[in-house]
This record gives sequence, C-alpha cells and structure tokens, in this order.
Amino acid sequence: MAVLPILEFEEKIVETVDENPVVVIIGETGSGKSTQLSQILHRRGYTRSGMIAITQPRRVAAVSVARRVALELGVQLGEEVGYAIRFEDRTSYRTCIKLLCYGTLRYLTDGCLLRESLSNPELEQYSVIILDEAHERSLNTDILLGLMKRLVKTRSSNLKVLITSATLDGVKVSRFFSGCSILNVPGTLFPVEKLYSTERTTNYVKSSLRTALDIHVREPPGDVLIFMTGQDDIDKMVSKLEERIQNLEEGSCMDAIVLPLHGSLPPEMQVRVFSPAPPNCRRFIVATNIAETSLTVDGVVYVIDCGYVKQRQYNPSTGMYSLDIVQISRVQANQRAGRAGRTRPGKCYRLYPASVYQEEFLDATVPEIQRSSLAGSVLYLKSLDLPDIDILKFDFLDPPSRESLEDALRQLYLIDAIDENGQITHIGRTMAELPLEPSLSRTLIEANELGCLSQALTVAAILSAEITIRPTRSKAKERKRKQPFSNLPDGSGWGDHIQLLQIYESWDQADYDLNWCMDNDLQIRSMKFCKDVRKQLSQIIQKIAKGPVDVQSSLKYKKGEKDYQKLRRALCRGYGNQLAERMLHHNGYHTLGYRSQLVQVHPSSVLEADEDGQLPDYVVYHELINTSRPFMRNVCAVEMSWVLPMLKKLEKMDTNRLSGGAGVSKVCEPMKEKLMNSSTKEANDSKKPDSVDSKIRAARERYLARKAKK
Ligand code: ADP
Ligand code: MG
Repeated sequence: MAVLPILEFEEKIVETVDENPVVVIIGETGSGKSTQLSQILHRRGYTRSGMIAITQPRRVAAVSVARRVALELGVQLGEEVGYAIRFEDRTSYRTCIKLLCYGTLRYLTDGCLLRESLSNPELEQYSVIILDEAHERSLNTDILLGLMKRLVKTRSSNLKVLITSATLDGVKVSRFFSGCSILNVPGTLFPVEKLYSTERTTNYVKSSLRTALDIHVREPPGDVLIFMTGQDDIDKMVSKLEERIQNLEEGSCMDAIVLPLHGSLPPEMQVRVFSPAPPNCRRFIVATNIAETSLTVDGVVYVIDCGYVKQRQYNPSTGMYSLDIVQISRVQANQRAGRAGRTRPGKCYRLYPASVYQEEFLDATVPEIQRSSLAGSVLYLKSLDLPDIDILKFDFLDPPSRESLEDALRQLYLIDAIDENGQITHIGRTMAELPLEPSLSRTLIEANELGCLSQALTVAAILSAEITIRPTRSKAKERKRKQPFSNLPDGSGWGDHIQLLQIYESWDQADYDLNWCMDNDLQIRSMKFCKDVRKQLSQIIQKIAKGPVDVQSSLKYKKGEKDYQKLRRALCRGYGNQLAERMLHHNGYHTLGYRSQLVQVHPSSVLEADEDGQLPDYVVYHELINTSRPFMRNVCAVEMSWVLPMLKKLEKMDTNRLSGGAGVSKVCEPMKEKLMNSSTKEANDSKKPDSVDSKIRAARERYLARKAKK
C-alpha cells in the first residue's frame, strides 16, 4: 500500500508544530490525520512531557481509530494507546504509570476531554491536544475550540494544539486563533465522475436499491458505498439488497456481501467493514454519514448519495426537538463523492438533479452549536471558574443565537445549577461532573437527598444510554396476536420513568437472567449496557458527591409505591421547566413556564387516562419532540405542590445577570422585551404573562374539586 500522504509531510509537520502553539492541518479523508499525526508526534518526542489527546466527535471513531493505532504500534489497546468514551474508559491504570516515562496516545470523544477539563482546567497531563475531525463542527469541539484559544495563552506549561479537518475552512479557523499556521496536506484523490439524476427521488431507499443493483450487474469490480440517513433505512436497505442479489440469476455476476455501518452497531460488526472483500466478491457498505469523513473504508469505487442526512434540531423558543431528514450541504456532497476516488477513478451517483445541488444545498452544514440545546455546555463553561466569563459573550467560532444561550441559562437557573447572579452553585458543580444531561444529574442529586438514589440511577442509566429497553413495537404486535400482551409492568399509572424502573427491577428480581430478557422481547445487549452504565454512574456519584451518598440505596433496591413517589419528586426537580399542565377541554397538555404551548403525550407512553378519562394534572417530560405534532416523550406524573416552587423561581429571573458578565444588564433590555413578547405569542390560548399565578390558582381549584369528588 502507498505511503499515507501525511507521512510524506512528517518533517514539515514537526517543524511547524515545533514553532507554533496552534496549527491547523487540512488533509483529505484517508490521508492519515487520525491515525498518523499522533504517532508522528509520539515518535518525535512530544510524549516525553505528557500525553497526546486526540478528540473525536463520534464514540465509534474514538474506539475504532484507537484500535487501529494500537495494532499499527503492535501494542495492546489500553497500554500505550487508550480510548475514553462516555461510560467507558480504556486508558488503563498501567498507561497512567507509563505515561511518566513514555507518554501515551489517548483517543477520546470531545465530550470526554471537556469533562476532564473540569477537574483539571489546564489539562496539564497533555502536551499535545489534537482536535480531530473539526469539520464535523460538533457542539463539544466548538466549545473546546473556544477553550483552547484561552488555554494556549494562559497555560503555564507548554501546550501544542492541532486542529485537523478534511474540509474545514482553514482560513476562518486560523483567523479565530489570531492567524495561526495552516498546513495543507495534498491528497491523492483520483477523479470521480458525478452522475446526477434527472429528477428528484420520491423514495431514496428504492432509488438507491435500483442504482446499487445496476452497478452490480453492469460495472466492473469495486466496492459500493451507499449513504442512508439512519439505522432504520440502513436495515431496510441491507435486507432488500441481500434479497435482490440472491434472486439474481446464478453466475450472472460476481458474489456480493452487504454490510451495515452506523454508530450503534456492535464493535465486532463495525470492524467487518475494514477487512477487504474476498476475491471475486463485491462489497456493499450501507452507511450513515459516519462514512463521510470519520471512518475510512478502503476499496470503494462507487458511491450512491441520496442527498439526505438525519439532523437533530433544537428550537430554544419552544424547547422542542425535531429529528428531520434534511438535504445535505455541498461540502457533504463532495465528501461523499470523494469516498469513491481513494484507490482509483470512481463514480458517484447523486440521486438528485444538478440544479438541486447548485441551488438548494447549503454551502456547509449548520454547526451543531446552532441547532442544539446548550444547557449542558453552558453548565461546563460556568463550572470552569474562568474569571471573566460572560456566557452571552463567549468567543465561539460560530456563535449560537442569543435566544438559545438565554434558554440554557434559564434552564440552569430553574434547576438550581446557577444562582440568580449567574454564579455556579454546589449543586451545579456536582451536576457538571456527572456525565449526564443537566436534568438527569439534577434528578440524581435530589434523589440522593430524598433517599431514592438507587431508583434514580436506574432511570438515569436507561435514559442516558440512549437505547430503548421496551419491547420493539413489531415484536410486541406479533406477541399480541398470539397471546395477551407481555407481563411487563406498566408504570402503575405514574408514567414511563416508573415503567422503566419497574422493568429493570423485574430483571433484577430474575437475577439478571438473560433468558428473562428474551422471554420479554427485550434486547439483551441493551439491558446489559444499562446495567453497566448504572454501575458506572453509581461509582461516579460515590466518588464526586461532596455530602454523604446513600451508598446502600445506590446498590440495593427498595421496593414499593412510596419509593416511586420520592423518585417522581426527584424527577420533577430535575426536569425543572419541562413541565406541563393538563388542559381542561382538550385531549392534551400545555407546557408551563416561559414557553407555553400545546403538546400531547406520545403514543408510545404508558401513561393512560384513568377510569374517568382523566390524565394526571401535571407531568414532567424528558423530551419534547416534534414529529407529526409536538409530543412529550417519556412522561411522569407529578404533583402540584412540587411544581409551585419552580414556577415561583420564574418570577425573578434576569438572563443578563444569569449570564455572569459585568455591566451588561442595561444594554440588552430591548432584546429581553422582544423575547418576552415572542414567547407570549407562542402561548396558543393567548394568556397574559401575569396569568401564571391565576392559572396555578385555577388549576389548584380544579384539582381540589376533583379530589373532593373522588
Ligand atoms: P483521516 O483521519 O485523514 O481521514 P485515517 O488516519 O483515519 O485518515 O486513515 C488513514 C488510513 O488508515 C486509511 O487508508 C484507512 O483506510 C486506514 N485505516 C484507518 N482505520 C483503519 C482500521 N480500523 N482498519 C483498517 N484500516 C484503517
Ligand atoms: Mg480522521
């Protein structure tokens, strides 16, 4: 195999890094940035004074690249080369000892590095920090860019920062770092012929399938990389393609294997895409945008680009997420095409007309920081104790909207992470150290106070492991036909969090028997992962909690309704403003607080109306998601008396003070007014801003009346 382009530039790279604290390195995907840069600097002595951190926006990439580097160096993973991702840390104790003499290469997610900077703001253990895949513009990488800018100026010991990217606008980043050097590593891409469709596709899975078969039947050998938007599409595509290939006439074309590639694939399945195709066999790799730049798959000659990507979008004025399939950007389209030209000239089949590419696609993807909830990131920034930090004025490469920063500040204030002057509280500090989103970390702290930490840990683990432990819908349906629906618990009328807890408790009662999972249509891998995450969370909370931690409770289960009440209380505190009140003459809720709107409980929820057809008066929700309509996903019934103190907090809230800067409060008044007006406009039933109190009073009366009736 030819020498990787980066290696031909070794001298130049080392020279530039020697002379400059910050260097931007731009090189084509596959040029060796992720696997070679760290090794070059290791060889050239940069690890004598500390470790090298290489951040990756994706967990899969951190693990996969670390594996690869360990293999190239001929060491065991976890020795000189380690990785760290949320809920797992492979940088072994042994590495820690070794680091003093040899230094190590540590691949970690950008989120992990951010968390490390909390306990060690100077990140002294690292001599070099490589922010890899910066073109992905992940939320955490963007925050790190801002922090690195400060750190290179302030750190007492020497620090080198490298920012690497396949496509990033180098000049912009260089300007951000006061004109730092840019190194361009020319790639060795072969020409890729781009073939456009004449019309837009109405069904990109179908069109991709047809194109894939056409290639297989007509084109010379070479692997095919197919970009889909998510796991669902991928699974569909893989099974259809396999079926169609099997139905081809025996001997009419070469053999084929079809491989999926996405973030939630088990590791042993992921590595399969790195082994070359057997002789006389074509590989079809059906991937998410993970194959655009993070993982390099060799042998690809044909690319099928549907032109779409799945993107999560947060709207700070409504607190609502949407998961949309959107058009890719031109930068992404060109990255996808480029995957076909790594080994020889290739072809890229764009399932959209050239006019769409030119006129409709954005130049570049909107950075995540401009489409995410920022509560977690703002909490980190607050807890770093940077003396002069004003959140609303923090130096971001592409600043998020003011609205979105204010939304984050309000949320943090409501759940007691910051005080009314924007100072981080004790609670906030503990929260920042937990690898969870703010609502869940606040829940754990409250649960510890209330004596239901064990239960809260379980729920937090399940929700943050980002997996579903409920039976899959199709399986559930199948079962329904054959026999009455499974015996899994139903949340006792309190909602989804309680159900998740009960399911886990049942598994605990079954001694964590894997057959029990199978009998109940629960995915074994998910259940085991939850158990693992729960264990890690309980270890972390015991380590960091300042006050006493109810260790007993975190290890041992207590059962009974009364514990559910405590847990619901803790959840209520943690979710803060993620709170909704039942509408009287409407089959739904409206959310309370500063962003009132009509919402419904998601159909997947176990929360059901009681015998009078009534839903609980108040619920907290884990997430608002806009699909066909605004839905609350994962809801939990709470009580009015727990809700009141939170609504009270809303009354005295000044976002300029929450921001923490000095002397900003006057300047921004008009903006604040505008925001208040716009958020009242959102309130569908046009309630006046001062009506929160009267609304509460009315709700209480209704509640008491109903209670008296029962
Ligand atoms: P870049 O980060 O510049 O996109 P990488 O360092 O990831 O490039 O990859 C450089 C080369 O190493 C590529 O040719 C790629 O195929 C190979 N490579 C990377 N990871 C693996 C792996 N896990 N298994 C096999 N080859 C790999
Ligand atoms: Mg890379």
